[in-house]
Amino acid sequence: MGSDYGNTNEPSKDTISALIENDEDYLKYLETKIKHLEEERKKLLLKLEYYRSEMEKLLSPPLIEAYIEYVLPDNRVVVKSSNGPNLVVQVAENVDKSKIRPGARVALNQRGSVVVDVLPDYPDPYVQLMEVVEKPNIRYSDVGGLEEQIRELREVVELPLKQPELFEELGIEPPKGILLYGPPGCGKTLLAKAVATESNAVFISLVASELVQKYIGEGARIVRELFALARRKAPAIIFIDEIDAIAAKRIEIGTSGEREVQRTLMQLLAEIDGFKPLDRVKVIAATNRIDVLDPAILRPGRFDRIIEIPLPGKKGRIEIFKIHTRKMKISGEVNYELLSELSDGFSGAEIKLAVIEAGYIALRENRKYVTLDDLVKGIEKVKSKKDVRNSWQQVYETRKPVSIFQ
Ligand code: ATP
Repeated sequence: MGSDYGNTNEPSKDTISALIENDEDYLKYLETKIKHLEEERKKLLLKLEYYRSEMEKLLSPPLIEAYIEYVLPDNRVVVKSSNGPNLVVQVAENVDKSKIRPGARVALNQRGSVVVDVLPDYPDPYVQLMEVVEKPNIRYSDVGGLEEQIRELREVVELPLKQPELFEELGIEPPKGILLYGPPGCGKTLLAKAVATESNAVFISLVASELVQKYIGEGARIVRELFALARRKAPAIIFIDEIDAIAAKRIEIGTSGEREVQRTLMQLLAEIDGFKPLDRVKVIAATNRIDVLDPAILRPGRFDRIIEIPLPGKKGRIEIFKIHTRKMKISGEVNYELLSELSDGFSGAEIKLAVIEAGYIALRENRKYVTLDDLVKGIEKVKSKKDVRNSWQQVYETRKPVSIFQ
């Protein structure tokens, strides 16, 4: 603390008297010294306080973490403690009662008999791999060439989420799970986000392959958390991309990795079986590999509505070009028919890429607008990359193991 307290080099009174000529000066000297000592005392008191509180922390017994399950009418609460059973406990007087609600994370005293504190929520690190978007901000008008698929999704997702009473009256059970399948980059994720926006539902997404590759041993728990989160946020749409990573049919379950994948799938099926068709949660799954899926997931009551999201046709490509050039400054007429013809075989993602390439061409030439010529060049660029990718894909395909579990 850099204190002079107890400094042995302090000059003696005689030395001071020798240096100070009159009483007045000596008085001033003493006053300064008193001030200095008072400050020193304050500092030491602070230090003492700090050590006292540290000592208290070291001596205080550990508390027990728990979650509130119910709040009883007599203000006691039922908690699930982290070390096991459900307990009925009192809440200490000094705890903010407005924070005492189901789901709150609290600390119990060491005996586990009283809630002594409400702890801040902390995000489960595993839950962070889910993307939660309250308002995805993608509309049906942002999706090109999939009118029929949009119509179907409106019927089986949007309408039941918005007007469940219609279905109740008619006695119809809408599907709980919908499977979108088709080649990559054709708008499966985009469509799922658009349905969430238009249904005023929260969009919670998760990539199944990440679940089994990055979070080994935690798959089933994360699936449970995913559904719990969706129920809390309802109306919600759960989007599971690359579902084949956990739902591919397999002949025998040998390795622990395969057992883990199986457990994750079982948990997913149990969760889907556990909610009702008119609960305000819908599950949309997507895959590029419908051929490898385990039939168990396609059974009635699970993913029993299957919708194909194919490569866009000529008209679809025109629409997608229009969508992605909507915000662009374009000089002259755009021949969308021509662009569509030139981009035959492109996915929506590739069309978007071609438009971005066109933008870069204009940028490199210091122009603030894009021309039809740039767009044609953009298509050519994506095409050449696509050719390289395809030839590599062929090499890769011939070397790839037969099963994704090998
Ligand atoms: P993957 O199977 O690889 O997950 P996906 O089918 O989910 O692909 P998206 O992620 O939806 O494809 O598409 C990627 C991007 O491509 C979208 O964000 C969008 O910008 C564009 N896109 C794809 N399809 C369309 C479409 N039909 N209309 C407009 N844009 C599209």
